[in-house]
Amino acid sequence: MSKDVPHTFQGSCHCGSVTFEVDSGFGVIACHCQDCQKMHGNFFALLLIEPEQLRMKTDSTVTWYRSSEKVQRSFCSKCGSRLFKKPDDGQKMMISMGLLGPITGLQIRKHVMPESKPDWYELPPVVEN
Ligand SMILES: [Zn+2]
Ligand SMILES: [Zn+2]
Repeated sequence: MSKDVPHTFQGSCHCGSVTFEVDSGFGVIACHCQDCQKMHGNFFALLLIEPEQLRMKTDSTVTWYRSSEKVQRSFCSKCGSRLFKKPDDGQKMMISMGLLGPITGLQIRKHVMPESKPDWYELPPVVEN
């Protein structure tokens, strides 16, 4: 894996109540599992980061809940935007790509559970580095 050029993005939910800054992380991962389909309306395009790469600016409407045995997810309690996914081991966090600006320079690096995808889309291409 080549080293990512350090880069910082500004992120926000749909209503703007939640704002944060995040470093670029590993790149975009697309999860096609059925949980993500239900929660995100389609596959979940996420930015994989280490928790310290995320710096919250405004977070009073961030609501966490346990979405499965070892994972918590969060959303904005005002607009419903899906925000973060946090496994209990605390090593990594996932951020919804849609919260970041439309121009990121990032590309999909990995597909998770592609076998679970529905039949109405093809897998987007993956960029190795
Ligand atoms: Zn919001
Ligand atoms: Zn998923």
